[in-house]
Amino acid sequence: MEKNPLLQIGDISEIDAMVDVLVERTCGYMKTVPHEMVHDALWRAYEFAKKAHDGQMRKSGNPYIVHPVRAAEYLLMLKPDLVTIQACILHDVAEDTDFTIEDISKEFWSEVAAICEGLTKLSTIRYRGEERTVWSLRKMLLAMVDDLRVVLVKLADRYHNMCTLEFHPDPVKRERIALETLNVYAPIADRLGIFEFKEALETQCFRILYPEEYKKIQSELDELRDKQNLFVTKAKDLIRELIKDTLTVHDISYRIKSPYSIFKKMERKNYEHVSDLYDLFAIRIITDNIPHCYEILWMIHNSWTPIPRRFKDYIALPKENGYQSLHTSVVGIFPEFRNQPTEIQIRTPDMHRQAEIGIAAHFEYSETGKSVIANDTYWVRTIKNILDNVNEWQEFLSEMKVSVFSDQIFVFTPNGDIITLPKGSSPIDFAYAIHSELGNHMIVAKVNGQVVPLDYHLRNGENVQIVTDKNRSPSPSWLSFVKTSRARDVIRQFINREQRDELIDKGRFILNSYLEHNYGRVLDKDLSILRNLDGHMLDTKQKEDVLVQIGNLSRKPSSILRALHDDALRSLWERTLPVQVIPPKKGTPVVSKWTPETQQEIDDSIIIGWERDIPYKIALCCTPTSKDRIVAYVGHNGVMIHRYDCKSIIQGDLDRCIPSRWSNVPQHGVTFIIEIVVEDKLGVLRKITEVLYQMELNIESLSVAPFENGLGKNQLTLHTKDEDYYIYDRLIERLHFEVPEFKEGKLLSMK
Ligand code: MN
Repeated sequence: MEKNPLLQIGDISEIDAMVDVLVERTCGYMKTVPHEMVHDALWRAYEFAKKAHDGQMRKSGNPYIVHPVRAAEYLLMLKPDLVTIQACILHDVAEDTDFTIEDISKEFWSEVAAICEGLTKLSTIRYRGEERTVWSLRKMLLAMVDDLRVVLVKLADRYHNMCTLEFHPDPVKRERIALETLNVYAPIADRLGIFEFKEALETQCFRILYPEEYKKIQSELDELRDKQNLFVTKAKDLIRELIKDTLTVHDISYRIKSPYSIFKKMERKNYEHVSDLYDLFAIRIITDNIPHCYEILWMIHNSWTPIPRRFKDYIALPKENGYQSLHTSVVGIFPEFRNQPTEIQIRTPDMHRQAEIGIAAHFEYSETGKSVIANDTYWVRTIKNILDNVNEWQEFLSEMKVSVFSDQIFVFTPNGDIITLPKGSSPIDFAYAIHSELGNHMIVAKVNGQVVPLDYHLRNGENVQIVTDKNRSPSPSWLSFVKTSRARDVIRQFINREQRDELIDKGRFILNSYLEHNYGRVLDKDLSILRNLDGHMLDTKQKEDVLVQIGNLSRKPSSILRALHDDALRSLWERTLPVQVIPPKKGTPVVSKWTPETQQEIDDSIIIGWERDIPYKIALCCTPTSKDRIVAYVGHNGVMIHRYDCKSIIQGDLDRCIPSRWSNVPQHGVTFIIEIVVEDKLGVLRKITEVLYQMELNIESLSVAPFENGLGKNQLTLHTKDEDYYIYDRLIERLHFEVPEFKEGKLLSMK
């Protein structure tokens, strides 16, 4: 879609040629409008803008006129009417040149001038910092209600600016512009259902904001391409064969998840590689009418196994932005290549157009090439309601949270600047979002003037103030609750450098707790279990590095277990499994012979490793029920669930065993015993219980010793359902904070 944005323009004749291309493309979809009318409309706008911008340059060194022409080229994707295209070509004239809106209105339709005026209003927002984000959002919404076309031009304008953003000399401004695009423009494109704009904008922002991650994801995608193409080609053939000539199929194509969506999902799921995503791409079938969509769905469900709860009927129940389609995920298409689920989308050409360009699909062209987009769609009414009823802009923000920013919150700095954070963020995330030093030395956080614990969940519209002390430094326990990758990265950098020994201890502690729970064993002094990891022999320092990774939560104990060498793993299992060990018979594929007797299941009732929705089969040799402890065995024919003590699995490769559990059985979480000393005061136990309740800690036992010298000693056994090995540190911080009578605490055991 994007031509090379870095292309330097040689002379003006190249731009003239671009305009001719625009004319041809416009005529291509505007069939009712005579060619010369289109030609005249575009060239008149172009000549006018060219004269107005004469002598001006872009930061890229190109003549300024390249910018509006490129923006118009991009806008054409939406197949807009002539008014919108003209306004796009003229969009910077009134703002950046000596010509005025009146000058435009003398030469062009009044609507063209009105759109240009709307755009000028949008760009006169000159607030400092993040505050700008919110005001731009409000302005955008107001403009949208007036005339949607203003916003379409604005999006195209912003897209071209993003493509050329690297020419902006100021890195801070670059980042700010990219953030604003991500927080305002992309969500609006999303709300309008203009999926192509949304993805294109996000990709550009991602490229600017996370250059390293962007490169990594792109190169991993490149690596996957051949394999994927092969799968998709084969899958298309199979689907065509399945449908044969029974009904019309216009197209079978596929879409790959955008780099930014991939990035977000990897962050959320803690994935290391792009290939870990099983919904990396979806196959898309376009057929002529709605009954045929359902018919094809039926054929597909008949041939391959659909995954329960993955089927979505957006035809009967369209999304708020108007999106319609059938979605389903199946397993078993070309299983030699892919035994993961594959998403399939089925829709009509109209639905497809709506999905790609959203609201712009409602353009209709009269013989003069003008169009009016209906202003009565659901979302316009929603936004109108908000704008009409809310005067207070902080309230406006929390209203917006519901309809646009469902996964983000806005909070305020003491200066009134706005910081955007993911939902669930803490004051620590806030501090790091402002500056690394602020985070690294923070000691107290105040929300609306009240001191709050550092793991407090910030809410929309709150005022946050950070108090620092230069002698303070970040604590590893922060890593267990911060939400933003920025906070995580800076904290890790700091503690890896300054607190290596503590992290080694903590890593050892966490790995031991995990091993003890799952295998009834702990590490020896030489860490011999880690001797061979990821196929490499590790020396003492490298083994400690692994502990550091566990301690700073960048690696989970379960991922270590997956990377262990056979021998180490075997020794763990052999010690654990309460049956006699039968020496493995080399080369005997034990698992495959069970295949015919098993029943394929795909649901989320078993969690394998950390994953739900992995297809599995129940082994008939031991037929585990939900009362049994279980283990997953990854064989050549997929994943088989055995009882934990099934003799058969010992005959296979033990490194193919993955700890698993029934999802309805609570996760083991962490159980720990602590001793706390408190002052002898009325109500102190109630206060402590209150903190435990807030932190969702379950009290399994409690014993109270008699008071001595006004002090009482209590021993508590506590359980958290999360696998949070920093829970003790957090609890102690909370107790110091909330219970003045709390004196000291001691961790007695944890597993
Ligand atoms: Mn512009």
